[in-house]
Amino acid sequence: MHELSIVTSVVESVTESLANYPGARVLQVRLRVGALSAVIEDSLQFCYGIAIEGTPLAASKLVVNTVPVTVHCQACGRDGALPSLQHFHCPHCDAPATDVRTGRELEIESIEIEDAPEVVAP
Ligand SMILES: [Zn+2]
Repeated sequence: MHELSIVTSVVESVTESLANYPGARVLQVRLRVGALSAVIEDSLQFCYGIAIEGTPLAASKLVVNTVPVTVHCQACGRDGALPSLQHFHCPHCDAPATDVRTGRELEIESIEIEDAPEVVAP
């Protein structure tokens, strides 16, 4: 499943970046997902719940920020957001849009962690 491999690599890279914060718990992971990446948020959330079990991310929340598709138009030289994925044309002059500027993102935007509780010396 597409979504499961995505969350698995997200969990791996978050776990790696936690190496500098031993004992820290992850509260929230924010992802930037382009509208063109063909990711279904519900599946992403479902797979995330499975992938984080037994990891430092257990009980953390996944927040998905969808990035709209924007194109640069060669015909009129302007940038704009696509009104619809079914209509791949410039929103200004309706020329066919081929130069996609955003919408293919699939990256971790931020990770919110809770610091490890202080260890009290006996
Ligand atoms: Zn145009």
